[in-house]
Amino acid sequence: MAFEALCGQDHLKKLLLRAEAGEHLASAYLFHGEEGLGAGCAALELMRLLLCEAEEGKRPCGRCPGCFKSAALDHPDLNILFPLPSLPSGKAEDDPADHSAGAIREQLELLARDPWHAPKITGARQILVAQIRFLKKWAALRSYQGRYRVIVIYEAQAMGDQAQNALLKLLEEPPPQTILLLCADRPDNLLPTIVSRCQQVPLWPVPEEQLRAWMQSRPEALQLDAEALEHLLALSDGNPARARQLLEGSLPEAVADFIADAILQNPKAIVERMQAVEKIKDKEEAREVVQQWIRQCRSWLQDVRLLQQDPQAIDRVRYRNELERLKGFAAKMAVRNPDLLDQKMERQLRLIERNVQLYSVMITLMQDLREHITREAA
Ligand SMILES: [Zn+2]
Repeated sequence: MAFEALCGQDHLKKLLLRAEAGEHLASAYLFHGEEGLGAGCAALELMRLLLCEAEEGKRPCGRCPGCFKSAALDHPDLNILFPLPSLPSGKAEDDPADHSAGAIREQLELLARDPWHAPKITGARQILVAQIRFLKKWAALRSYQGRYRVIVIYEAQAMGDQAQNALLKLLEEPPPQTILLLCADRPDNLLPTIVSRCQQVPLWPVPEEQLRAWMQSRPEALQLDAEALEHLLALSDGNPARARQLLEGSLPEAVADFIADAILQNPKAIVERMQAVEKIKDKEEAREVVQQWIRQCRSWLQDVRLLQQDPQAIDRVRYRNELERLKGFAAKMAVRNPDLLDQKMERQLRLIERNVQLYSVMITLMQDLREHITREAA
C-alpha cells in the first residue's frame, strides 16, 4: 500500500497519489513541518512508489526488482543525501561519501528498517558543496531502470548558501524523469529561490483519532492499558515520533523482551533498541549496555534450561522475580544446542572488548538467538 508507513497526512497522500497516477508530478517537492511529523518518511514512501515497476494502481507492489532495491535503499536510480563531515584538508576534490562510507551504510541500513529514522553521522553539520557537486554528476547519468530517478535530501536546511546555489542549477534544469525530494523542518533557512522552485508539501500534526490508531498498532502499545495509552497520546501533541519515544520509554527493560523480539522476529523493536544504544554518546557506556544485555540473555537462557530439566528447581533460578515469564518461556520455547549458543554469546562479549561495532554485535546476537531458539509446536 502506498504511504503505509506514514501516520496521518491524508492531504499529502491524496496530492501525491493523484500526481503520480496522472504522471504530472512536479520535478521537486519540499516536505516541511515540525521535526517528528515524518517528512523523511513521506519522501521515502513517495520514492518507493516512483521506483516500483508494477502497473499503475498496484504501486508499490513490494515484490518487483525495483521494490526490493528501493526497500534496501540500494537502487541505482536512487540517491539519498544527508549531512556529512567536512573533507580533510587537501582532499577537497574527493567525494565526501567515500570518506564516510561505513557510517553512511550504517545509517542507510537503519533507514531501510525504519523509514522514521533520522539519519545522523557524528561530526556532520552540513550538506557539503562537494556532495551537491557529486550529486549533479550522478544526475547527469542515464536512468538505470527507465522510469524515475529519485533524489532524497534530508535536512535540506543544512545546506549552506553555496551548496544551495549549486543545487539551484539542478532545480532550474532538472534532468528528465528526475524527481527531487527535499525534507526540512525549518524551510525558512532555505533560499527563496530554492523554495519557489519546489512544490510545497507541508506536514501537519496528526489528528487524535489517527494517532491513537497508529499507536495502538505498535508492538510497544501491547503492554499498555487504555488509560495509559490516552495519557501518552495527550503528551504526544499530534507528533508520531514523540508518541513513539513515549511508548518506548514505557517499556519495561526486561531481557525477556529482547529475546522474545529476536525470536518473534519483531525487527522494528530490535532496531529501536539499537537506536537507543546508538543515542548513548559515551562509547564506553554504550558498550556496557550491550554487554549487560548479553550477560542477562545468557543467565536467562541458563534459567530456562534449568527449569526445562527440572521444573521444581525454582530456588536455583536467578530471575526469580520474573518467574512466571520464565516458566512460560520454558514451556513454549525450545533451545537447540544451548552450549553452542552460549559459546557464541561469549564470543560476542569478547568482540565488544575488541571494539567491534556494537551494531554488528547486536545483529549477530539477534540472529544467533533466532537460529537456536524455536517455539515448541503446541
Ligand atoms: Zn514494485
